[in-house]
Amino acid sequence: MKKITSLFLLLSFQEVSFSQAPHVQSDSAMIASIYNEVMLNGECYENLRYLCKSIGHRLAGSESAQKAIDWGKSTLELSAADHVFLMPVEVPHWTRGTFEYGGYTLSGNPREVALTALGGSVGTDGKRITAEVVEVKTFDELKALGADEVKGKIVFFNKPLDATLINTGAAYGGGYPIRGQGPSEAAKLGAVACLIRSLTLADDNYPHTGATNYEEGVKRIPAAALSAVAARQLSQDLKNNPHLQFNLQLSCEAFERTMQANVIAEIRGTEFPNEYITVGGHLDSWDIGEGAHDDGTGIVQSIEMIRTLKAIGYKPKRTIRAVLFINEEFGNDGGETYARVCKETGLVHIGALESDGGGFTPVGFNCDISDTQYERVQSWLPLLEPYNLFRFRRGGSGVDIRPLKDDRIALFGLNVDGQRYFDYHHTNNDRFENVNKRELELGAAAMTALVYLMDSIGFN
Ligand SMILES: [Zn+2]
Repeated sequence: MKKITSLFLLLSFQEVSFSQAPHVQSDSAMIASIYNEVMLNGECYENLRYLCKSIGHRLAGSESAQKAIDWGKSTLELSAADHVFLMPVEVPHWTRGTFEYGGYTLSGNPREVALTALGGSVGTDGKRITAEVVEVKTFDELKALGADEVKGKIVFFNKPLDATLINTGAAYGGGYPIRGQGPSEAAKLGAVACLIRSLTLADDNYPHTGATNYEEGVKRIPAAALSAVAARQLSQDLKNNPHLQFNLQLSCEAFERTMQANVIAEIRGTEFPNEYITVGGHLDSWDIGEGAHDDGTGIVQSIEMIRTLKAIGYKPKRTIRAVLFINEEFGNDGGETYARVCKETGLVHIGALESDGGGFTPVGFNCDISDTQYERVQSWLPLLEPYNLFRFRRGGSGVDIRPLKDDRIALFGLNVDGQRYFDYHHTNNDRFENVNKRELELGAAAMTALVYLMDSIGFN
């Protein structure tokens, strides 16, 4: 009898708390089942292994990018999505070639330099450029030197990222203009080539590539990034011999633009099928390393989101899409095309989420949303805090989804502990081995939980 009474009391208590906050109970149970599914049965780590080891790096326009598109489509089909299809996207086609050399001789000793061409750089026409080096930190310093000091020389931008910025993305953003505009600014003053210190916070010998943007009407000069160690060494050697002759040879080539595709999978909504939520990352990578953190992890997490929702039997109210965008690195063609096609076909989004900050421990979400939407998101915090998701910072969602921006859509980016991201970013060291299985899975589960909240509660 006593037992029965206690059971009765327990049941009534549960009933009361349930009726007071029906969403909190059912939503927290649903989020728990999402995490359980990913942490116990997750496939994202093995998918990442395949993408990195069997396909490898996959610059847009390349054959391996095409292989990645085919793999993405078949993997999404296996995830039991309702519908998987390709959206044609025109992309550039550029190759680094097989030969890169940078070096000089100091006091009779040859010194080879760890460097790699910037994405989109012109080559050196099968010849070796030999010239003196002029070192600067900023565009202002370069301009102050003027054409007399720069003409016929190689300009060397040697500016470390700002290590005092705790947000590593902000530190990277501070160095970005030099990689983008440095070669054209140097060419305007008659430079024959341009070298930059890699955009990294690490102190190692890996050069970091990344797109450079030649200015229309300015001579295109070869451009390469030096590793942090090589940049420091060159700077030191220039102090000992300001007239040292630097040799540079690059075998890059540009070809006609070509057609590739975004890969799209969807689970159809049961109540509002014409309201969409898109989740994605970029399938392309730079052509060195394996594109593991950038952005293989975002790709396999987006696939995992579809697989998980299907595996736990969730029937979304709205239509949920995973989009594997092609060519984020070299002009954002995939993101631009996706937004244009959605607009042309009148497809309405309520939300989008991107993962492109590396597969590190998730800490929350970047929120590019209205004040009203932000208030709604605040009410979700008690459901997400048990999973160490505390940081909901305004702004900075992601490059691929940014073209979807309008008055209604809520844009999010997975926010991770990014202190090591720029150690690997765009290098030969961005490899599968440097991704942690548990951190990757926590990111996939966090993304799926946010999709669930957007879908089941929404912003209205
Ligand atoms: Zn990326």
